[in-house]
Amino acid sequence: MLKGRSAIITGSTSGIGLGIAHVLAYSGCNIMLNGFGEQSVIDAIKSKLTTKYQVSVGYSKADMSKSDQIVAMFEQCEKELSTVDILINNAGIQYVSPIDQFPVEKWDQIIAINLSAAFHAIKAAIPIMKKNKFGRIINIASAHGLVGSPNKSAYIAAKHGIVGLTKSVALELAELNITCNAICPGWVHTALVQKQIEDRAKAENITIEKAEHDLLFEKQPSLKFVQVEEIGETTKFLCSEGAKSITGIALPIDGGWTAR
Ligand code: NAD
Repeated sequence: MLKGRSAIITGSTSGIGLGIAHVLAYSGCNIMLNGFGEQSVIDAIKSKLTTKYQVSVGYSKADMSKSDQIVAMFEQCEKELSTVDILINNAGIQYVSPIDQFPVEKWDQIIAINLSAAFHAIKAAIPIMKKNKFGRIINIASAHGLVGSPNKSAYIAAKHGIVGLTKSVALELAELNITCNAICPGWVHTALVQKQIEDRAKAENITIEKAEHDLLFEKQPSLKFVQVEEIGETTKFLCSEGAKSITGIALPIDGGWTAR
């Protein structure tokens, strides 16, 4: 079902996006990578995916905070991978601060990358998916798209926004064989979370191991980080024929975080 499909995965040069790229490429999807990083590292990711899974792999350096660059990424994907069947809106950043000290430019940046980018990408994807009479849009939201925490106002506003956007898009496209769903991960041990662990260890004068433990203990009843492969496998399922009637959902993969 996924063999020969083409997928754009935003923010796929590391973490969850890269994990999704591996699972979709393993399933036969051609991949358009996107995200920041050193050219040599990106070249190594491209060649690993190509040789390991025998699929075509492109790379777009689009900055997801810039709508014109997002549109150009779709044009590049159509040119290099012939179409866009799957869109994974994954690029995201975090900034932690009490709201009265939250820098305005950080608020604007988080809303642009974590929320508006998905709007621009979905807008660019829909005409192509309508033409193909097929589409799968998956938005990587967060447990923080369903519940709140202190000091993450911009991130939580953006992630709740992504869940709302998911529902609205799903309803607009429900008759067209184009689904739109959100995945809501709990803690996944990526660069985005590593920084929060290090900041916590420093602020509380505790070891990295203790900071990791406390982070999990506070929120994630499984007491284990979710693995990027788990997000990849769920993404693969939501792209499959078996999931064609699943649309508009926000699916937690969070070790029980949002069950409390
Ligand atoms: P990460 O820092 O490892 O990856 C972020 C990716 O986004 C990188 O490829 C980076 O280059 C890219 N990126 C950042 N700004 C960009 C921009 N302006 N344009 C294009 N690409 C940009 O972090 P991650 O944890 O893998 O996060 C991926 C997504 O998962 C984010 O949306 C994040 O909010 C979400 N998420 C993460 C966790 C977690 O615990 N790690 C939990 C829930 C949700």
